[in-house]
Amino acid sequence: AGEVRFDQVRFGYDPEREILHGVSFTVPAGHTLAIVGPSGAGKSTIARLLFRFYDIQGGRISIDGQDIAGVTQQSLRAAIGIVPQDMVLFNDTVGYNIGYGREGATQEEIEAAARAASIHDFIMGLPQGYDTRVGERGLKLSGGEKQRVAIARTLLKDPPVLVLDEATSALDSRTETEIQEVLRSIARRRTTLIVAHRLSTVVDAEEIVVLDQGRIVERGRHADLVRAD
Ligand code: ADP
Ligand code: ADP
Repeated sequence: AGEVRFDQVRFGYDPEREILHGVSFTVPAGHTLAIVGPSGAGKSTIARLLFRFYDIQGGRISIDGQDIAGVTQQSLRAAIGIVPQDMVLFNDTVGYNIGYGREGATQEEIEAAARAASIHDFIMGLPQGYDTRVGERGLKLSGGEKQRVAIARTLLKDPPVLVLDEATSALDSRTETEIQEVLRSIARRRTTLIVAHRLSTVVDAEEIVVLDQGRIVERGRHADLVRAD
């Protein structure tokens, strides 16, 4: 499960000003799609439309063949996990922060999610491991560490589709590298992964689409597009 399909999707926040002019792509279950392109191209908008935060004005968005227009917000949230760009951590333990939203998660499950997000070893190196307090009044984590905690939290919910919206975040290059490693390990799971990113040097995606002013202007595998540059 986890096939995501956009069919000629048209959308504008203001119906008078269309932002997406007929966007189509299919991400087979378990595959990775990277959406790249300049700022303002519409990458974050695509990510938001998957959650039906807004109604589209034309076309169709479906998950596993089902039009999301007929799906409740609740089941959409179960089907799709989104990693926010800037997660706010609670003033609590790192274990609590990863387990938040999954009542009754066992320590083993929390650690497995942390491993998948490549943050387990880091946590084990903290003064009190998973019991170390983080957040404003605890240990201050770097942007990359916070983001990996956010990814672990989302992975713990084990959604068939995972959306990472990196479209506007300005991560330093070391953090970028860390996150890309995490994405590679997620891409090896059965999770469908959709990444919105400014750069084309992003993940080993099965497909990359280049979006420009609300249109897909190029698509292909990573290596092909790099050659085209
Ligand atoms: P990207 O993620 O590629 O940088 P966005 O999807 O954020 O692009 O934005 C695409 C276009 O939609 C831009 O012109 C932007 O100004 C506009 N836009 C984004 N969010 C909103 C919003 N909430 N209301 C109105 N316009 C928006
Ligand atoms: P839950 O209790 O399931 O965590 P939330 O209200 O926190 O419910 O959000 C459900 C999903 O939608 C989460 O994965 C969250 O990250 C995502 N989400 C909520 N608001 C936004 C937003 N403004 N932009 C993008 N994603 C959002």
